[in-house]
Amino acid sequence: MTLTETLATDAGRRLRGLTMGEAAARLAQDGPNAVARPHPPRLLRRILAQLADPLVSLLLVAGAVTGLLGDWADTAIIVVVVVLNTAIGVAQQVRADDAVAALDTLTAPTARVTRDGAELVLPAADLARGDVVRVEAGDIVPADLLLYDAHRCQADEAALTGESVPVSRAAGDELSAGTVLVTGRAVGTVLRTGARSALGRIAELVANTHAGPTPLQRRLTRLSRVLGATAVGLCLVVFAVGLASGRPLLFMALTAVSLVVAAVPESLPAVVTLSLALGARRMARRRAIPRNLHAVETMGSVTVVASDKTGTMTEGRMTVRRAVAADVAVSVTGAGYDPAGRVDGIDRPLPRPLLDLARAGLLCSDAVVLAPTVDRPAWTAVGDPLEAALVTFAARCGLDPASTRASAPRWAEHPFDQATRQMTTVHRDGGAFLTICKGAPESVLAAPVIDPADPVVAATRQAAADLAAAGLRVLVIAAATTAEPTNPIAPTGLRPLGVIGIEDPLRPSAAATAAEFAQAGIRLMLITGDHPGTAAHIAAQVGIWRPGDPIATGDRPEQAHQVRVFARTQPEQKLDIIAELQHHGHVVAMTGDGVNDAPALSRADIGVAMGGGTEVARQAADLVLIDDNLGTVSHAVAEGRRVYDNIRRFLRYGLAGGTAELAVMLVGPLFGLGVPLLPGQILWINLLTHGLPGLALGAEPAEPDVLRRPPRPPDEQILGGGLLRDVLALGALLTTVTVGTGRYAAAAGWPWQSMVFVVLGLAQLGIALASRATRPRGTRWANPGLLAAVALSALAQLAAVAVPALRTLLGTAALDPTQLAVCAAAALLPGTLAAIWQTVHRCAGIGR
Ligand code: ADP
Ligand code: MG
Repeated sequence: MTLTETLATDAGRRLRGLTMGEAAARLAQDGPNAVARPHPPRLLRRILAQLADPLVSLLLVAGAVTGLLGDWADTAIIVVVVVLNTAIGVAQQVRADDAVAALDTLTAPTARVTRDGAELVLPAADLARGDVVRVEAGDIVPADLLLYDAHRCQADEAALTGESVPVSRAAGDELSAGTVLVTGRAVGTVLRTGARSALGRIAELVANTHAGPTPLQRRLTRLSRVLGATAVGLCLVVFAVGLASGRPLLFMALTAVSLVVAAVPESLPAVVTLSLALGARRMARRRAIPRNLHAVETMGSVTVVASDKTGTMTEGRMTVRRAVAADVAVSVTGAGYDPAGRVDGIDRPLPRPLLDLARAGLLCSDAVVLAPTVDRPAWTAVGDPLEAALVTFAARCGLDPASTRASAPRWAEHPFDQATRQMTTVHRDGGAFLTICKGAPESVLAAPVIDPADPVVAATRQAAADLAAAGLRVLVIAAATTAEPTNPIAPTGLRPLGVIGIEDPLRPSAAATAAEFAQAGIRLMLITGDHPGTAAHIAAQVGIWRPGDPIATGDRPEQAHQVRVFARTQPEQKLDIIAELQHHGHVVAMTGDGVNDAPALSRADIGVAMGGGTEVARQAADLVLIDDNLGTVSHAVAEGRRVYDNIRRFLRYGLAGGTAELAVMLVGPLFGLGVPLLPGQILWINLLTHGLPGLALGAEPAEPDVLRRPPRPPDEQILGGGLLRDVLALGALLTTVTVGTGRYAAAAGWPWQSMVFVVLGLAQLGIALASRATRPRGTRWANPGLLAAVALSALAQLAAVAVPALRTLLGTAALDPTQLAVCAAAALLPGTLAAIWQTVHRCAGIGR
């Protein structure tokens, strides 16, 4: 079928679209409209990957050797350790992958489809051949479309061709999947979906958009390698010393292998991934959806939040409040887009200049306001809210939008352009042509066609400045009536009709959000395309600007380090502002919602897109705010900091334990404890301490002061900020207490080895408890999982000396109540000291 035939066949379908049944049948036949993602690895694959870990392989070899020698006890323990380790590892990975996949679906692209005669918003993956799809500026074209209908439709095909100059597309043209509609709107029918679409054909290029490991994950992998090498070295020392003192080779080899397994924090990368993934899930629950794990991690170190104004700090619900035409100045009452409002300060009938201004504003707008319905309680705007405000204003002046528009049909137009901040339309008006230009005061009044000597220009400029200083968004409207149509790109003979001041109320929460950022040591900046006066007014209300403070404009990005407010900034200029801030060592989160904001969103450390913004912005962002509320960003910051704190908690706990295990084996013999622990005992302790309690630490709540302290320095080492010192101190403490107990027991003729074993295990659990987040006064412990994990592990540790079967397996002896009491007292010591230390050094304490 040729394109024209397709167009003809489907012409009748345009209004009602496919039926749900047809769409389902075609979907079943063609498969979903998605570029095939790589399959998640199968369970067997994951298990094998875990077993291929060098440490686990080492353990398996040791297990085989002990099995061959008939040392069934050690073989059994090794098998248990390997099975449990693998199970925990696989479970962690599956959970982390699931959490990330869930995020993907939350921000998956959507499409506006007509089915059964009604327009729906569906996941783009559900599109079928023949679906009728509507696209608007800012959309990423969801499938290859054949256009029925196109209005000033320009597509950026850079994703497919690398060519970034937008191309015009008209009815009858094809619009390829993956291209971005930069301006205009269009309706078309789906020709090809999924792998058969233009995007599918270059799928290899886009399939793996997910970034690799995050910087933190990479740093931790490197760290665990260094620690592993150190541990191996020290274990060789233990091995050599054991051999030198005449112990059997195989026994010492097994001891060394167990010690390596115990001391190396091999679960570290997995714990990090899981913490990040769970953090991502919690962020998503608070309506800030991270699009990758990288965002979760970086969120915690953000130092600057650069926000736009409209819709983020303000509500983005616009109302015309003041208007000045010739020498008439009026104010306007009424709420939202409801036409029920009135023009005050003037007698009826309204004077001609005011009506001309209102009519011109209406004609030069594309928005529509819709009356309330059952499921839509208020008057709503479709299209640019600023233009909807003009429509409502015209209605409040007594003009009927529909008939007024019909009376002066559009002949030509030049759409709104962020760079020039104006828009021009040409209309047939009676026998003549009416050209209307509306836009930001400086740009309209500076247009070459406006006579600067005209006194109206000076008066208009003054009126505009007054309205901007009152915090209103200001539009100047100019018009010309000519016998011949003018070219909207270079109109002639324009004269200002007047000025319109539009109110966009501040979000009630904006000032509180700004205060929250200030407390958290984050600099909040306002970057807007609007007038400096309007920007200053809003910034002052938010509390980030005071009269006398400097304001920069977008063409002076080098001032980014000193100012809090940028006015008259174009989207491209945001890139320079980000670069300047990053140059000063800042970690920048930048908001944006428009087509042109996408590059800045990718360039920022954290690009923040609004759920209500364009698809392009959402797909370029790292974080999507579903409720468009800047306040949600601070939740995400808190979550990012919490994840980082918990990773450091795990490090502190895990590394201190590993250090102690090594140190006890190294120095024990010097204090007359020949073989402080048997290989099986070492593995048992490792399993109990790293297993559940380690995981549970990742679920600790945020410290109460998480948003009342400065961000961590972006270049801080993972073990920096006193963490390494803590690890070594705690390791020394654990070692001293354990070896001390062993000495005491040996002198008393008690089963000292079993006591060393019990104390070393229990004391580490004490450290886990002491590592919890600070509990705000009068609240309950927030992470019962940790208490349960510690209790379970403590029981298992005691069972190792209490249950006869385990005693045989582990080579332990039964302990009498006195001996147990001594163990308990000794084991409590390190945790208690750590808790006291933490209370004293709250500021320099853990997780910082
Ligand atoms: P913001 O940063 O607040 O989103 P914009 O860049 O959207 O600011 O708008 C800047 C200025 O451009 C507005 O104050 C207004 O004067 C002008 N403007 C915005 N939208 C339109 C439009 N649709 N038509 C004409 N002028 C507009
Ligand atoms: Mg805007």
